[in-house]
Amino acid sequence: MVDRVQELGVRDPRVLAAMRCVERHRFVDQALASRAYEDTALPIGFGQTISQPYIVGRCAELALSGTADPKSVAALEVGTGGGYAAAVLSELFGTVFSIERVRALHELARANLRPLRIANLRLAFGDGMLGLPTEAPFGAIVSTAAGDDIPAAWIEQLAPGGVIVAPLGRGTQVLTVLSRSPEGRLVRREHEAVRFVPLLQGTVTAENR
Ligand code: SAH
Repeated sequence: MVDRVQELGVRDPRVLAAMRCVERHRFVDQALASRAYEDTALPIGFGQTISQPYIVGRCAELALSGTADPKSVAALEVGTGGGYAAAVLSELFGTVFSIERVRALHELARANLRPLRIANLRLAFGDGMLGLPTEAPFGAIVSTAAGDDIPAAWIEQLAPGGVIVAPLGRGTQVLTVLSRSPEGRLVRREHEAVRFVPLLQGTVTAENR
């Protein structure tokens, strides 16, 4: 699977090594386990998916691009889903916080990640459009769900020298990187077209589903 990710264009050796460390079958339903190492998104319930491995690698590579010393950086992932990308990011960054708006998926990620005992990964339940103010600032913010634009809270919580990696748009989405220079200047770059599930406001619990 990681060879395929590399063929498709992910070059950063740190990302490829991280992806070789995380067993993706732990994050897909048993019924789909035989497909866990295909380079494809798969359903995880609640209308959500585990991202395509190539896309996880690509986003991680872009997230690293801003940072000289990622092991000293706190990163925020918006959209934990089943927790696969969070596990990959935790191999790369000093600390990773990952927030999910669907309570049942937050709990699924907890269950998937528990046996891995990743000491530098913290999961949060809540609306990631608000970022995670209690843990800010972040040197990298990676969204695995697509909104219309980058929420103001993410920009407020972005450290100098940090990057936001986010798919933007409806229908056709563009993988967008917003970086904040050490002096505070914001620079926005658009990359390839992608397809992610939508970034939605609010939270979903058993009570309000
Ligand atoms: N990171 C996952 C991908 C999950 S799909 C992986 O590694 O495979 C994207 C996830 O974003 C979904 O679980 C969806 O519920 C979640 N999401 C969408 N809007 C959100 C928001 N505002 N805050 C937090 N999570 C959100």
